[in-house]
Amino acid sequence: MRECPACALESDIEEVACPYCGYEFPENRQSLPWFAWLFALLMLWPLFEILKRIL
Ligand SMILES: [Zn+2]
Repeated sequence: MRECPACALESDIEEVACPYCGYEFPENRQSLPWFAWLFALLMLWPLFEILKRIL
């Protein structure tokens, strides 16, 4: 069971959204959201450019 931050009622841990108020629980932290990958790619891009010049 976990508590809904919106209505403070408890619902099943496997529920994607609160069955009482419809609040969507945050996704599993083990899977990175797409913008995290995009951000990582943008951070690493200059490193790839430098490596291309060296090699
Ligand atoms: Zn709720």
